[in-house]
Amino acid sequence: MVDATEIDALLNVARRDVLSVSLDVDPTRPEHQVPTPAYRIWLHRAVHQVLAGISGPGRGEALETGRKVLAHVNASRPQGRGLVIFAAPNLWRKYSLPFPLPNLVRFGRPDLVPLLWAMSEYEPYAVLAVDLEHATIAMAYVGRTVVVDDKTLELDTEDWQFKSGRVGTYTRSIGVGIGRGVQADTYDARVAERQRQFWHGVAQATAKALADLHIGRMIIAGREEAASAVREFLPEAVRAHVIGTVPLPSRATIPEIQRRTLPMALADHHRQESALVADLLAAVEADAQAVVGRAPTLRSLMAGEVKTLAVARDLEGDIWQCTQCEYLSARPLRACPICGGSVDQGALRQVLPLLARRHGAALEVIGPVGSAHLVDGLGAVLRYRTQRAAVESVGR
Ligand SMILES: [Zn+2]
Repeated sequence: MVDATEIDALLNVARRDVLSVSLDVDPTRPEHQVPTPAYRIWLHRAVHQVLAGISGPGRGEALETGRKVLAHVNASRPQGRGLVIFAAPNLWRKYSLPFPLPNLVRFGRPDLVPLLWAMSEYEPYAVLAVDLEHATIAMAYVGRTVVVDDKTLELDTEDWQFKSGRVGTYTRSIGVGIGRGVQADTYDARVAERQRQFWHGVAQATAKALADLHIGRMIIAGREEAASAVREFLPEAVRAHVIGTVPLPSRATIPEIQRRTLPMALADHHRQESALVADLLAAVEADAQAVVGRAPTLRSLMAGEVKTLAVARDLEGDIWQCTQCEYLSARPLRACPICGGSVDQGALRQVLPLLARRHGAALEVIGPVGSAHLVDGLGAVLRYRTQRAAVESVGR
């Protein structure tokens, strides 16, 4: 399962001989339904290209790692729509995910950016599917995986789409019992009252589920009448978490609920990403607590000022880091200007998650739409700002 613990473990992989692969293996794409799916062809080219750039004593092992990855992808059918592999001698981590990932091959430190992007893009959300007589509170996860082999994590495709709570505790299916044989006027009144009680109960159960599962957003799905009634019964704090309502036929299946709600969850997330970038740019414009661009962001990061680091998912480019004092530069360096130590060149995207962790900064990986206006693909919201003069010398 891709979770914070897995990410932590990968962040702590200090080695620099890791082949990181992320792939869109979506079996619904026509180009993936042929004997040699397009992603395999892409992967072969990309792996050979990356390996061709490796020289020195590690080359033999890197080639062997590349062969192992290609052989694995050739031999196995995709378990989901996205695939992530981290491979090196004595290291093998594989994640099958229920959504496509950007195609990417990198060598060096593990490249966690695609996984971090996926965790943010597919952040859990709750769904309350409600009609006149039934309600289901469900939770959409990034993807739940089961271990099928040591060090190999596979996706159970039956399992990923939706979970009705951890052990089904939050699935409520409450029928409305209607007593027959009563007089028409009281009958209608009773139905209305039972209906009201039912929706009230549903709203309470929903509020409890969101609190228990620590889920911060919810979609209500169902017929207009039921959806708006339940919404009204929700405590105000919970109603604030409702990102929208989608129509849904009665007794929709879980995959149907997923299919109808996911676009809304994604759209909501993309709005938030765009808003984060817009706020950041506005703050920079106002000379407030934010920076954009590589050199200024790295300066602030090293100075410990960064609260949230915003990184474009498709960020490219290198970083130069002193091996002794960890001085950072966005421009090529021969030797460290601070201590004279030797300097390591590495891919920015493979270093940033670790740097963010070390400097106590939250990391937001922004998808292509949101990051279109993010200058240099990098920016940060600051906690505070040290005096300009004090930081100006850093990072130059
Ligand atoms: Zn140094």
